[in-house]
Amino acid sequence: MEEVLRQLPKKAKEKHNENKKFFSKLRKKAPKDLDYTMQELHEKEFERTDCLTCANCCKTTGPLFTNADVERISKTFRMKPQKFIDAYLRIDEENDYVLQQVPCTFLGQDNLCSIYDVRPKACREFPHTDRKKFQQISHLTLKNVAICPAAFNIVEEMKKRIK
Ligand code: SF4
Ligand code: SF4
Repeated sequence: MEEVLRQLPKKAKEKHNENKKFFSKLRKKAPKDLDYTMQELHEKEFERTDCLTCANCCKTTGPLFTNADVERISKTFRMKPQKFIDAYLRIDEENDYVLQQVPCTFLGQDNLCSIYDVRPKACREFPHTDRKKFQQISHLTLKNVAICPAAFNIVEEMKKRIK
């Protein structure tokens, strides 16, 4: 996995223009069964991907924290939401709560998430490859393929499946 992650930004850069073109076409006219196809590609890829050998999302980019995330997570720490925010979060340029630092504070040496059961919604859903109307988040996916080897493979499969 280490070598895969080392090569990933370069591979994503090489595919960037091709991916951009593909998604631009997809946004104009998406196949009717796109949600179904994405579900299938996502499940197939994550059957063979062991996130515990990777954790690149937790190491290189943090999730955004919704108010519901803050409420839920701070409760498990028995902290007031504002105390939790002061200790771990900052507001980014888009006015969202994000981590003060990456790798994520809650990531262990063993790549396990210490708040797994209550982790932010964005962590649960990353890399969003099984979400409905996937073409609508293509700008995000173009970035995620450089971070997440599973997202990279899923997009490569999409290009083979959807002509
Ligand atoms: S979601 Fe992607 S980047 Fe995150 S741990 Fe799994 S394979 Fe790695
Ligand atoms: S909260 Fe957990 S899943 Fe989310 S980035 Fe941190 S370690 Fe990863």
